[in-house]
Amino acid sequence: MTLTVAKIIYVLLAVGWYVIRIPHERRARKTPVARSARGLREIVLLSISFAGLGLIPFIYVVTGAFKFANYPFQPLHAWLGALVAAGSLLLFHKTHRALGRNWSVSLDLRDSHKLVTHGVYRYVRHPMYSAFWLWAIAQALLLPNFVAGFSGLLGFGTLYLLRVGQEEQLMIEGFGAEYTDYMSRTGRVIPWL
Ligand code: SAH
Repeated sequence: MTLTVAKIIYVLLAVGWYVIRIPHERRARKTPVARSARGLREIVLLSISFAGLGLIPFIYVVTGAFKFANYPFQPLHAWLGALVAAGSLLLFHKTHRALGRNWSVSLDLRDSHKLVTHGVYRYVRHPMYSAFWLWAIAQALLLPNFVAGFSGLLGFGTLYLLRVGQEEQLMIEGFGAEYTDYMSRTGRVIPWL
């Protein structure tokens, strides 16, 4: 494993994620929204997350920027990163398949929204966020640069911490006891935690 290969794996992770998401984005546009918690706060949070997981590492990979923050490349870290990246993509695929028409990039309840509790949603109630955490960990392992490697953890961490409570509130408003029961038997992003 070389640094160039590690960078290519990071790019493949981003491309793979996008390929998994495209059909869901198309379908989401056609499914009407009944109730939404979208707003300026959501736009800012999504932008911070996008910068950390996508834009900053992309600039590093393409231009070699942030040289002051480089540290020595460790092939073992990169191999681990590749493994975590593969796990992240697999989980993304499974979450999108389970959520189906109920998926949104933001916080929405759609017309005839169904509470999904099957598949990977049986164990954790935010497995798509688990997949993004895995992405951020893979990024930190693959890119030996304090800025480009750790921006994912910081960017997605900000979105996660400021969104997950609001999302659960929206789900409780929409599903009541069905969601609070579901909360009592699942972990947030790690099974049984
Ligand atoms: N937080 C979830 C979903 C992220 S997508 C995860 O990490 O897997 C965000 C959208 O999914 C929100 O608009 C919310 O309404 C919807 N959502 C979240 N959990 C859901 C569930 N268990 N069933 C159906 N829709 C859900």
